[in-house]
Amino acid sequence: MSGDAKKGGEAKGKKAPTKFEKMQAELEGYFASWVEIVQPLNPFRITPAVAKPVEPEPGLFSGFKKITKGNSGLAVEELRIRLAGFGGILPGTEFDDALLGAVKRFEKDVMGRGATGQVDMDFAKALDAFAAAHPLSFTKKLKCPCGTCGGFGKGRHKDEYTSKYAASKNEAGHKYEYPGIHRSLLWACRSLIHYGSVIHKDKIRFMAFSSGYRCHDDNKLHVDPKTKKARSSTNHMGKAVDLNFESKVGDKWVRDPSKAQTSTDADAMRQIAQDKLGAQVSWNSTDKFALEPGGKGAGHAPTWVHMDVRTWNRDALDDHYFVQNLIDLDGTPMATLLVRPGSFE
Ligand SMILES: [Zn+2]
Ligand SMILES: [Zn+2]
Repeated sequence: MSGDAKKGGEAKGKKAPTKFEKMQAELEGYFASWVEIVQPLNPFRITPAVAKPVEPEPGLFSGFKKITKGNSGLAVEELRIRLAGFGGILPGTEFDDALLGAVKRFEKDVMGRGATGQVDMDFAKALDAFAAAHPLSFTKKLKCPCGTCGGFGKGRHKDEYTSKYAASKNEAGHKYEYPGIHRSLLWACRSLIHYGSVIHKDKIRFMAFSSGYRCHDDNKLHVDPKTKKARSSTNHMGKAVDLNFESKVGDKWVRDPSKAQTSTDADAMRQIAQDKLGAQVSWNSTDKFALEPGGKGAGHAPTWVHMDVRTWNRDALDDHYFVQNLIDLDGTPMATLLVRPGSFE
């Protein structure tokens, strides 16, 4: 980073800094505080995130602003994505009552301040820090394991449906390989992980994703030994992830101390998803995060948490919401968006 303002100007006396200078100093201090993440951030044993270049935009500051109800635009769209897991917010560009509720939840549950409903610089910094504290690794389980598609399908079968859903055109049978994993879903995972670490502190914690993207080629590799049929679900083609949690036994964090413990933990995390993310178990309502039920059998998630956005309307599943790496998942820091002209109105 260069472009440091010339020191000195040892002019007559000490002039009080202008409002602009103060603002610039505060912003630069903030951006200087960003550091490379070289260690996995315990307790989330995840591959380290790469550092993001975070550039203030000299000359572009338009003054400290606040985003609140009634605003719209790119910064609001980003808030709706990043706060998806605070009540269950769908993508969009309007700051409505739903988003207001999410902002207040984040203030109370993450920042620990009273609910103002205002996205100010402290809020923006806290949201950026929240992302940095929960780096999600795209290199392993979030990528498709088939070995041929490159990790996130090949964009095949848009607007084509499995025979069961040909008439209804239900997303459950949409064969489209979305171009990545939905950002709102992954940000919501951060929320779930956060709440889990607070509500079940020292008892349950996120360990890793056990499944992310699974393309049509990967489906063909998974044949049911009984029915001899290949897996046909299209849910994991960008719209679903599976999360594994581990338990503290004595002073050690372990997975599968007993299946019973792991299923109890999965149930506990599903409860949080319902209470805090507005998720539903199964897929009866539209426009909600959906969870596979616990217990055994096809379509169940006995020892993990499956969460998806399959019931979301098609606008909320637009291609531009799907990402393939951490940089795109995180997006432009909210602190930057708050001061960048034109990012909201
Ligand atoms: Zn694949
Ligand atoms: Zn799943």
